[in-house]
Amino acid sequence: MITQPIYLVGARGCGKTTVGCALAQALGFQFSDTDHALLASTGQSVARIVETEGWTGFRARESEILHKVTGACGHQVIATGGGIVLSEANRRFMREHGIVVYLHAAAAVLAHRLSTVPQEEQRPSLTGRPITEEIEEILLARESLYQDAAHHVLDASAAPQDVVLAIMRQLCPCAAG
Ligand code: ADP
Ligand code: MG
Repeated sequence: MITQPIYLVGARGCGKTTVGCALAQALGFQFSDTDHALLASTGQSVARIVETEGWTGFRARESEILHKVTGACGHQVIATGGGIVLSEANRRFMREHGIVVYLHAAAAVLAHRLSTVPQEEQRPSLTGRPITEEIEEILLARESLYQDAAHHVLDASAAPQDVVLAIMRQLCPCAAG
């Protein structure tokens, strides 16, 4: 039985929001998303916060939100922003307060998803360069941080429902059947 929050980490486009929402539904858990919570609490998109406060301001707000959405009940799935693991304090907080699942996918898979549904409004380009190049570079820089944060690493290139099932099999084999 799962009694701690499940945190989903991984690069932009790996499916934290999509899979997290479906996983919460399947488990009957509450769903939170740090990007959505940030939007709700500030009334501003990520792009707008970065524009006015810079990435440092955004990261500070993101850490605050991570603490805020982590409730006492434990029956919750929390989708995080792709850069949440950049902070050592965030990685430690998630590991100590819950089960951290890294949704791993290759750069080409992420680039394909993001080019199908461009999300510039929610998450600005970090470098202004072509998306595949940027993703490869980000993955290279962050792979060890995702691994460091994670209790479990799962393949996120399957269909969302299959990723949900794989997570359930890993975390609660009895419930997944
Ligand atoms: P994240 O929250 O990790 O940035 P999202 O859940 O917002 O990722 O998904 C980004 C895009 O990729 C969305 O268009 C979503 O529909 C699609 N997507 C997410 N997970 C999958 C998946 N497992 N298979 C195919 N497409 C997916
Ligand atoms: Mg998301």
